[in-house]
Amino acid sequence: MREGEIVRVSGTVVFGTGIPDIEVGEVVEVGEDKLVGEVIRVFEDTFAAQVYEPTSGLKIGDPIFGTGKKLVAELGPGLLSNIFDGIGRPLEELLRLSGPFISRGIKAYTLPRDRKWEFKPTIGSGVEVGPGDIVGVVQETPYLEHKILIPPNTRGVIKEVFEGEFKVDEPIGILEVDGVEKELFMYHEWPVKVARPVAKDGRLPPSTPLITGQRVIDVLFPVAKGGAACIPGGFGTGKTVTLHQLAKWSDTDVVVYVGCGERGNEMSEVLTEFPELKDPRSGRPLMERTVLIANTSNMPVSAREASVYIGITIAEYYRDMGYDVSLMADSTSRWAEAIREISGRLGEMPVERGFPAYLPDKIAEFYERAGRVRVLGRPERVGSVTVVGAVSPPGGDFNEPVTTHTLRFTGVFWALDADLAYSRHFPSINWLKSYSLYVDSIIDEYVNIAINKNPRLKEVWPNVIEEYSRYRLDAMDILTNANEVESIAKIIGEKALPDDQRLLLLTNELLKEGLLRQNAFDPVDSYSEPDKSIMILKAIIDFHRMSERLIKENVPLDRISELPIVSKIKRVKLDEKRFDAVASLLDEIKAELSKVASEYRVSISIE
Ligand code: ADP
Repeated sequence: MREGEIVRVSGTVVFGTGIPDIEVGEVVEVGEDKLVGEVIRVFEDTFAAQVYEPTSGLKIGDPIFGTGKKLVAELGPGLLSNIFDGIGRPLEELLRLSGPFISRGIKAYTLPRDRKWEFKPTIGSGVEVGPGDIVGVVQETPYLEHKILIPPNTRGVIKEVFEGEFKVDEPIGILEVDGVEKELFMYHEWPVKVARPVAKDGRLPPSTPLITGQRVIDVLFPVAKGGAACIPGGFGTGKTVTLHQLAKWSDTDVVVYVGCGERGNEMSEVLTEFPELKDPRSGRPLMERTVLIANTSNMPVSAREASVYIGITIAEYYRDMGYDVSLMADSTSRWAEAIREISGRLGEMPVERGFPAYLPDKIAEFYERAGRVRVLGRPERVGSVTVVGAVSPPGGDFNEPVTTHTLRFTGVFWALDADLAYSRHFPSINWLKSYSLYVDSIIDEYVNIAINKNPRLKEVWPNVIEEYSRYRLDAMDILTNANEVESIAKIIGEKALPDDQRLLLLTNELLKEGLLRQNAFDPVDSYSEPDKSIMILKAIIDFHRMSERLIKENVPLDRISELPIVSKIKRVKLDEKRFDAVASLLDEIKAELSKVASEYRVSISIE
């Protein structure tokens, strides 16, 4: 370690001198307590470091030590089910070491050193191995098999491999690297600011949807596995519930949840609620496939940055095993505010609402680590990291810099809407403002997945593959057009509108109630299977198309809107028979509208 001294302290930023070869990104230990910090700027004779622990009491002349290391994450078994602070220290361990008021300068390993894991090798001695190769497995939780990987920058020949129970810092084998024997462990370290490498040309285009079971997402604004989504919303708009729903129901193997809460209670909500959540499919604690990273309230803002990078690095690590991972960051605005504060302390020129010019670069760097990739190593495998970044725009203004820059680097925008939340329409994702750029690349696969899970879908709707996309667009058109009609109706009254426009309003209502609105707390509707979601869309659009034809033949809309099927369409989502309930409703829709047609002697085919 090289020793220098502090020349200035400005909040969580400490300026030092006396370590000529110090580099940006190097971890420093600051003051007698050896607080953890990271060098963020190097000037001629001095350097600036952001400190990840409270800096009160530090003074000019105090020592500052260069460690020669970058900020790294420890990657190995023991991450799942655990809760870490912003720099990767397990909260339970901190509590044990210092009680509820975490003292400064505590060192704690990310991975438990006392726990033994049953290691089962999958390759034998004499094998040549390279970056990312799987050498064995550990059952990390009942849910997930942890693959033990050769670190990305390592290559050699396995001399020996052991089987049995080991702690993470006990060797599980011997690797010969350039004639030198090295011990092989179940974990390795990785610098958090560096994206983990993938196979050559391994970045794959988005082709598979993340199935979330939330209809407004899956049907209207889907995200691809390996994609990135931005979910801005003010307080009370349903951000937390939506993120919890995504964590619970999305078809990913691992969830990494990074909480950058500002107020203590935002974080304590996550800390108390998350460990209670059950994986609805297995009935087991959701934590068994979750890693929680929480900035505790005693940590300075600078730790938010570290937490975001540690989170994405852990996500990439599980991706490298060949898993689908989703990372949720709540909220990235708090991280951006930290960047702003630190930049101010460095005396940099602000450009947009106080944010520095490099804010977009930081945001881009983070979201670019999302992706679906062919990972390094053998056996060949594909993994993905899907990133969902919550944003809390001040005053709900989506034109502020964090939201607008985030949208440049994410393919999906789920705009949470205060008015919808106020009228208890949840999820409050505004269908007029939101968008997804992934639709074209994943929509067919969504239908295929639905058919695979339930082949009856294709019996009930033989052309579903060819027609689904048209139905989705029809729904989007109706929602957009109805919005215009609504504003006219507000002026002249709904009754004064022609029947075709009133039908638009009626179908709009059916789409809102029957398709988009979804109660996270309803036992049946909390998760909507793809086959069910697709059928609800079909029922509503078929109803609309048939009714349109009847209206053209002068059947009054009032005759249609009084039909029992109308209220059934709104409620079918709650029916325990799920897909089958919608399938039989489709028959009822045809039957009732045919009856109306014959009543009015209209000879149109109701199909
Ligand atoms: P935020 O995190 O944006 O402040 P929350 O996620 O806590 O907001 O949501 C506020 C309230 O809105 C919740 O307590 C719940 O009553 C309601 N809510 C949000 N989303 C849903 C949903 N999908 N289904 C039912 N209720 C919801």
